[in-house]
Amino acid sequence: MESTTDIKQRLQKVREHIEKAARDCRRDPATVQLVAVSKTMPAERVKAAIEAGATVLGENYIQEAREKFDQLAALPAAWHFIGHLQTNKAKYAVRIFDLIHSVDSFKLARELDKQAAKVGKIQEILVQVNVSAEATKSGIAEQEALALASDIAALEHVALKGLMTMPPFFDDPQRARPYFRALRQISGRIQQAGLPTVSMDHLSMGMTGDFEAAIQEGATLVRIGTAIFGPRR
Ligand SMILES: *Cc1c(COP(=O)(O)O)cnc(C)c1O
Repeated sequence: MESTTDIKQRLQKVREHIEKAARDCRRDPATVQLVAVSKTMPAERVKAAIEAGATVLGENYIQEAREKFDQLAALPAAWHFIGHLQTNKAKYAVRIFDLIHSVDSFKLARELDKQAAKVGKIQEILVQVNVSAEATKSGIAEQEALALASDIAALEHVALKGLMTMPPFFDDPQRARPYFRALRQISGRIQQAGLPTVSMDHLSMGMTGDFEAAIQEGATLVRIGTAIFGPRR
């Protein structure tokens, strides 16, 4: 059983690497937020991470997140959803998550809007873009991102705050860089369109293996699991 101390040490190390990566490209480290990806980790480990200073948790599965949230909701952390979200789970998602990174269809955005209206909330979301166009990956095609953003702009109870992507896995993180750069360019085009209620404040990109490259390409949210919690079973 791992202690809070182990998680604290790893969290500290990840923070140092984030800060170094930011400074190396003359960015203010405060502009890069760490999302501690706690999927598959039991509630005690997640609690330990919060006690060790994690302020944002990333979860992939609604049922799992609901169980943990029930136990840990009183603790000072924001919860982000980063997995594939089915429309019929939108009602649970709006109750738990401050930010949903993975909206990839208007159908889902519309359902989130409806459910957010019911609980009197404006749900912040990101659009997930499948920059690599891999058939196995979720996310909307690059060419459709602007149209989706423009449809979302008309919804009253969701607020689009940026984009998210997951590049293919490479042993060499430098190879992920063109995908990160492409996401930044798509974000720039959406920003230029000047859509009402839409802001492109966030680029959610970079994981344990490639967050330094993502920060160099403009990431504002890095989603890191393994480097904080150790390998998943
Ligand atoms: C699991 C996961 C991560 C974290 O991956 P690590 O390699 O463990 O840092 C980040 N983003 C998404 C969407 C994930 O599913």
